[in-house]
Amino acid sequence: MESSGGRAEGLGRGPRVLVVGSGIAGLGAAQRLCRHPAFPQLRVLEATARAGGRIRSERGFGGVVELGAHWIHGPSQGNPVFQLAAKYQLLGEKDLSEENQLIETGGHVGLPSVSYASSGVSVSHELVVEMASLFYSLIDQTREFLHMADAPVPSVGEYLKKEISQRAAGWTEDEETRKLKLAILNSFFNVECCVSGTHSMDLVALAPFGEYTVLPGLDCTFPGGYQGLTNCIMASLPEDVIVFNKPVKTIHWNGSFREALSPGERFPVLVECEDGTCFPAHHVIITVPLGFLKEHLDTFFEPPLPPQKAEAIRKIGFGTSNKIFLEFEEPFWEPDCRHIQVVWEDTSPLEDITSGLQHVWFKKLIGFLVLPSFASVHVLCGFIAGLESEFMETLSDEEVLLSLTQVLRRVTGNARLPAPRSMLRSCWYSAPYTRGSYSYVAVGSTGDDIDLLAQPLPEEGAKAQFQILFAGEATHRTFYSTTHGALLSGWREADRLIALQDPQAQLPGPWL
Ligand SMILES: Cc1cc2nc3c(=O)[nH]c(=O)nc-3n(C[C@H](O)[C@H](O)[C@H](O)COP(=O)(O)OP(=O)(O)OC[C@H]3O[C@@H](n4cnc5c(N)ncnc54)[C@H](O)[C@@H]3O)c2cc1C
Repeated sequence: MESSGGRAEGLGRGPRVLVVGSGIAGLGAAQRLCRHPAFPQLRVLEATARAGGRIRSERGFGGVVELGAHWIHGPSQGNPVFQLAAKYQLLGEKDLSEENQLIETGGHVGLPSVSYASSGVSVSHELVVEMASLFYSLIDQTREFLHMADAPVPSVGEYLKKEISQRAAGWTEDEETRKLKLAILNSFFNVECCVSGTHSMDLVALAPFGEYTVLPGLDCTFPGGYQGLTNCIMASLPEDVIVFNKPVKTIHWNGSFREALSPGERFPVLVECEDGTCFPAHHVIITVPLGFLKEHLDTFFEPPLPPQKAEAIRKIGFGTSNKIFLEFEEPFWEPDCRHIQVVWEDTSPLEDITSGLQHVWFKKLIGFLVLPSFASVHVLCGFIAGLESEFMETLSDEEVLLSLTQVLRRVTGNARLPAPRSMLRSCWYSAPYTRGSYSYVAVGSTGDDIDLLAQPLPEEGAKAQFQILFAGEATHRTFYSTTHGALLSGWREADRLIALQDPQAQLPGPWL
C-alpha cells in the first residue's frame, strides 16, 4: 500500500492525528487540535469535494437555501453553535436578543398558519390547536418513562396511539369531525417523524426518548446560510489541513505500521483510502455519519470492531428526512402565512396505510414552510421523512414536481393553481457518504448505546490508547441529531487527545 507524503512529514513532532470527515464535528475537532501546540501533524480526510457535511447551503432562487441543517435548535448561551455563530457575526439582531434566548419552546414545532385538507377546504384553526395541544401534551408525557425499566410499550408511537385511542373513545362530535381530528393528529405524527428522522414513531424507543435535551431559545436560522459557520471554522485552519475527495475505505488499527519517510517510527493505525493512498497515524477521529457506518461496518474496520460496539452501531436508529423547495411565480398564500399544513382526511395514526409507496408517498409530506422571500422570489419548503422520503429520492425531478403540483391543486381546491416554476430537493439517503439524515434512539437501544459508540478504542487499559475515537452527532447522548451535538462531540474527542498529551491542559469540558 502506498503511503502519503506531504505536509505532516515536514512539520514538528507530536502525535499524528487524522480526522475522517469535515462536517461540523470533524471541523470542530480539527480547530481545537490546531490551536494546541502538541498537534502540528493533523489532517482531515474528506470524501467529497466540500466541507460542511450535513450543513449544506446552496445558492438558489435568488438567495440561500438549506439542503441540510436549517435551524439552530435552542439558540442560547448553552448552545456552542449559537455561541460560535454569534462570535462570527452570522446571526441577525433579533436572534441574538436576550428575549429570544429565554423563550422555552419545549422542542415543539410551532402551529401552522393555515391547514389545508385533502378535500380542498381549510381546516378549522381551533381544531388544529386542540389536536396540537393534545399531541404535544402526550409527547411531553413520554418523559415520565425516562430510564424506566418497564415502560408500558416499547415505542413512542405505540404510547401515543394508545393514549389517543383512549381519548378518541370519549370524543362526542359527529363521525366526520372525529375522523378529521385523527387526520390532523396523523399530520403531527408525520411532523414528529421529520423531527426524529424516522420512518415511524413506532421505531423510536419510549424510555430513552426524554433523554434528548431541548435548550432554551427560539430556533433561528442563518441569514447568509448555515454553511457560513463551517466556512468560518474551515478558514481558521491551516490551508492544507483538509484533503478533499479522499474517501476512506478501511481503518486498520491495533497494528504496527511503518512509513518510508519515517523509518524508525511505528504507527498503530493505518487509514486506507479508496484511491489506494494510505495515511499512518497515532490517532484517528472518525466523524462519518452513522448511516455510512451501518452500511460499511463489515469492511470499514480491520480488525472488526468489538461485538458490543458493532451492535450499538446496528441498534441506534438512523432514518431519512428530506426537503423539497418549490419556487412560484406568484404566492398563492397570504402575506403573513409562515407555515402551511397538509391534512390527508383518509389517514389516521390508528390505521396503517397499506397501498404501495408510488401511490401514497406524498401523503407523508407534512406541509410547507414559507421561506422569507428574497428579491420577489416565492419559495415553499416541504418536509418529508421515512421510507416515503427515500422513495421520493428515486423519482425524477419532473415526477416530484408533478406530484406536488397535484397535491397543492387538490388541497387548495384550485385546479388551475400554476405549477411551481422550479424545484430543488435534498436526497440524503442516496448520498453515499451519509445514507440518511440523522440518528434517533431506536426500539431495542438506549442512551447507553450512544455512549458505547462514543467510546474510543482500544478500551482503557490497553497499551496504545485512543487509536480510534468516535465523534459526530450520533455519539452525543443528549443532543444527538443536531449540529450542536455534533460540534460538542468533536470538541470532546479533541479534548481527549489534548488531555492525553498535555495532562495539565485547562479544558473547558465535560462536553456531555
Ligand atoms: C435534512 C436535514 C435537516 C437537518 N436540520 C437540522 C437543524 O435544523 N438543526 C440541527 O441542529 N441539525 C439539523 N440536522 C442535523 C445536522 O445537520 C447534523 O446533526 C450535523 O450536521 C452532523 O454533523 P457531523 O459532523 O456529525 O456529520 P456530517 O455533517 O455528516 O459530516 C460527516 C462528514 O464525513 C464525510 N465522510 C463520510 N464518509 C467518509 C469517508 N469514508 N471518508 C471520508 N469522509 C467521509 C462526509 O462526506 C461528511 O462531510 C439536519 C440534517 C438533515 C440531513
